[in-house]
Amino acid sequence: MQRRAFLLAAPAVLTLARTLPAWAADTGADPFSGGVASGDPDPTGFVLWTRLQPTPLAFDGLGGMRAPAPVRWEVAADEGMRQIVASGRATATEAMGYSVHVEVSGLKPGRPYWYRFTAMGFQSPIGRAVTAPAHTAMPDQLKFGFVSCSHYEVGWFSAYRHLAAEQPDLTFFLGDYIYEYSYGPGRKDGIVRPHGVKEAATLAHYRQRYAQYRTDPDLQALHRASPCVATWDDHEVQNDYGGDVSQIVSTTPEQMRARRIAAYRAFYEAMPLRKARYDRGRLEINRKVRYGALAEFYVLDTRQHRSPMACMSATSRRAKVIACDERLDPRRSMLGMRQERWLYDQFAKADTRWNFVTQSLIAASFKQRAPDESLASWSDAWDGYPANRDRMIQAMDRTRLSNPVVLSGDIHSFWANQVAADPNQPTGRSVASEFVCTSITADNPPAQPFASVRADNPNVRFFERQCHGYASAVLSSKRMDVRFQTISDRLDPNATLSTLFAASVETGSTQIQI
Ligand code: FE
Ligand code: CA
Repeated sequence: MQRRAFLLAAPAVLTLARTLPAWAADTGADPFSGGVASGDPDPTGFVLWTRLQPTPLAFDGLGGMRAPAPVRWEVAADEGMRQIVASGRATATEAMGYSVHVEVSGLKPGRPYWYRFTAMGFQSPIGRAVTAPAHTAMPDQLKFGFVSCSHYEVGWFSAYRHLAAEQPDLTFFLGDYIYEYSYGPGRKDGIVRPHGVKEAATLAHYRQRYAQYRTDPDLQALHRASPCVATWDDHEVQNDYGGDVSQIVSTTPEQMRARRIAAYRAFYEAMPLRKARYDRGRLEINRKVRYGALAEFYVLDTRQHRSPMACMSATSRRAKVIACDERLDPRRSMLGMRQERWLYDQFAKADTRWNFVTQSLIAASFKQRAPDESLASWSDAWDGYPANRDRMIQAMDRTRLSNPVVLSGDIHSFWANQVAADPNQPTGRSVASEFVCTSITADNPPAQPFASVRADNPNVRFFERQCHGYASAVLSSKRMDVRFQTISDRLDPNATLSTLFAASVETGSTQIQI
């Protein structure tokens, strides 16, 4: 109502619109159909994001836009947007898919702000962003959520809605924010809303996919409520890809690199990332996000620079359970040697109370059951890259990294693990705790490989396979409390919430207390 009132009260803008280029094919439609977002906060500001998409599902991926459009942004100290503390203008252009990224600076540390955009005679919804505390300040607490694996077709995003209600200071998206493939009509049960485009593989497709996901009101509510920090996993490009190796045997590295360039560009356009991360098709997303003297988050890229998965056959490049020697080759890396060096350099400089390795894949060692019931390792996760994990563990030890915690997703189930110093001695010394969030909606894994996972792996302290939801944590200088939150039914748009698991970790100990 408020926004309509604004539109009617602004005849000058409408008159102007007729004399300027036709911004949009569908004149009169709200260009803010994808909502707003903020992210990558620092002590003086954050990135503000929106995208003009009056026709979000347009097949060219351009959201119904036809020409550059001016966008005004405002940041206020109050929820009612009365005390404007920063404002400016940007232009949404086709080159960046009509997305807008504004890097706001000069604000006060450790406090909430509110923001909105104005374009094409419309006002966006108001979002809430939060600056990080000053570098040396020790805040009383940090409330954060972490999520992964939202498949639009197979369920409603109720978990996002419930996390939004918690108003976390930060939300970490740990990968599979979109799914590139589609079940479509080929799947009989449990499709609540089809993707439309069968499989995203081009820039237009990926853009359209993000635009579609962002029309979801629950996802919009989460982005409005909380600044985010996003990394990717495989489905932002293609299932099980790694480096320039496609899961399709006939795809060449050149073809895969071209697909990656399109997918990474769409990811940059869709997320509140800083411009410095993106350079003409090159997107490097490993970075640090600091929350005062309390916590540093090392955000990793586990896909772009990895060695090919071990023990692939000539006929299939899919991830699988393996027990071959190639897995152990010390030259193989999940992060790539450059990112490894960067990470260990950051560990050496670390001076915060807590240190979070924030990334997509389960890091603790565990054995799962192969189809013949033998014990084996999953080639796609850190167990497929044990030499890299050993180097990371050694770097945590060598640098005496303060209170390391790993945050992970991908496996569509909840886990709480001790990361053992020696994977062959799972009950031995633990160097870190690990918390793995389940999927927002994506299908749970099959039962057989995990039927005896706790009995087979004493370092796995909690495991639940049949659930969807999110994880949230409250961090202080003394302890971290983690809850695994589940929704009642992904097929119910009004799904209710319950707490499945609660645990804590105290500083000075990596032991998960259940
Ligand atoms: Fe997933
Ligand atoms: Ca994945």
